[in-house]
Amino acid sequence: MDSGATRETSLLLESGDQRPVLERNVTGRSPFLFTSDHYGRLIPRRLGNLGLPASELARHIAIDIGIAGVAEWLSHLLHAHLIAQRYSRLVIDCNRPPHVANSIPLISDATTIPGNEGLSSEWADARRREIFDPYHHAIAAAIDRRQRDGLPTVLIALHSFTPVYASINRPWHVGALYHRDTILPPLLLTALRREAELVVGDNEPYAVSDETDYTIPVHGEARGLINTGIEIRQDLIADEAGQRQWAERLARVLGEIETALRTERHIA
Ligand SMILES: [Zn+2]
Repeated sequence: MDSGATRETSLLLESGDQRPVLERNVTGRSPFLFTSDHYGRLIPRRLGNLGLPASELARHIAIDIGIAGVAEWLSHLLHAHLIAQRYSRLVIDCNRPPHVANSIPLISDATTIPGNEGLSSEWADARRREIFDPYHHAIAAAIDRRQRDGLPTVLIALHSFTPVYASINRPWHVGALYHRDTILPPLLLTALRREAELVVGDNEPYAVSDETDYTIPVHGEARGLINTGIEIRQDLIADEAGQRQWAERLARVLGEIETALRTERHIA
């Protein structure tokens, strides 16, 4: 774990910057542990606006639009622990292994990120050490604590996706995104498909992989937790009414799934 010395060598975050990790309902007894890698769109003050206009920083390239509201309501409704990341994915993507090229993207959905060009390894390391690491340490520590307390953990990574990508309309309203877990994704897909009006993506608009993802492979799969990602289309959760509606729907669906997991003794 980080020592105090790591914090003292802060290169990036200043006293006026917010802490990267946001947590809600830390003592919640729900088996569901929610993460939100792309919850926020803060930029450390030292990085200015990364050379981008406000219009770009409001787009999906900077943040998972709408997911913050859904995550907050869902955590509240289920009394479930939420761990979220306040800084923009353009600063460092907390759902990418830090060694891959687009961990700190030079280009995202056809937009060049001037503030990420020519980054020295020292400054790239600072983004990892001061934003990425505290977030993932918080998730790992929460799972450790739950195991010590005998509390089961079902990990759910919350994301949202843009309705149009590379000029192609995405028909799905919601998707279950997964890789190795065979327990939760089928339960979730079945439950969501019972909601008559929904187009449900099975590993759409994309699948989870070790190369493109971090939270599910590292905290879910490597630790043997039941897990899935949930992606909601951004136009459905653009306002508070949509965010509440989706949080209420997911709370209901996940409540049913919790009962099924207990009945089938997947969790105690
Ligand atoms: Zn995301």
